Amino acid sequence: MAWVPRGLRDGIVTTSYPRRPDGYGPGFVGSVAVSQVPGDPPDALADAVTACPTAAIVVSGNVVQLDRGRCILCGRCSELAPGTFRPDPGFETATVGRRPLVVPARAGEEPDDATLAAARAALGRRVRALRRSVHVRHVDAGSDGSDEWEVSALTNPVYDVQRLGVFFTASPKHADLLLVTGVGSIGMTGPLEQVYDVMPHPKVVVGAGVEAVTGGMIGRRYASSGGVTGVIPVDVFVPGSPPSPFGLLYGILLAIGVLAGPVVIGAEANDARTAR
Ligand code: SF4
Repeated sequence: MAWVPRGLRDGIVTTSYPRRPDGYGPGFVGSVAVSQVPGDPPDALADAVTACPTAAIVVSGNVVQLDRGRCILCGRCSELAPGTFRPDPGFETATVGRRPLVVPARAGEEPDDATLAAARAALGRRVRALRRSVHVRHVDAGSDGSDEWEVSALTNPVYDVQRLGVFFTASPKHADLLLVTGVGSIGMTGPLEQVYDVMPHPKVVVGAGVEAVTGGMIGRRYASSGGVTGVIPVDVFVPGSPPSPFGLLYGILLAIGVLAGPVVIGAEANDARTAR
């Protein structure tokens, strides 16, 4: 009965996100922010490039870009070049489409407004039917297990995704959204394709964690596909290693059209592939 006084003492612990802003403390690292103008000498930037274990940083002249689809948030770059790289506590880092994970976008690479609007509309049409009640099938396609801890936290009293009409299901035939973690191990490519194929339309796919996006530290090897994008079409990418529960929640809500976010480029291509 100890839970009774504890419950009375703690009150309601469930987050109100996304109705109200929420998040983690300032010590939390959700991503690495990159300055538009490098604030470090070239040799410090070169040291950061060399120290990055996943080749997530590219320096070209005076332009520095970081691929959040590769970044495992080890923090080495922000230690070696703190004027350019900065840990950021924000968790709303998921994107529709792969390209927006590369930050900052180079001049001329930003999608124009028309492209953004068209892609957003295409994804919106696909997921309109999913906004009220969404069933999620989670597939571990070769994860190290850390992603699964964060995914399972979504159903605890703090995040309580059921309050938003999001439910996990064991059967892909009942699922609207496929949540994939892991590097896309070769042994899982066939089962992952089968799960995707038997899901009813409309369906959306969320690739969660850098392993699912690019393979992370493992990348493409004899037993790894280097992420799941080459196995099934992915609509929303959630960076992080592992992504936090809030980050996952943001990605899921982005995928089902509850939240607007930075969309796109490539969504139409995904549409075409999902028609198979
Ligand atoms: S924090 Fe990310 S970008 Fe920076 S060194 Fe580590 S993996 Fe590379």
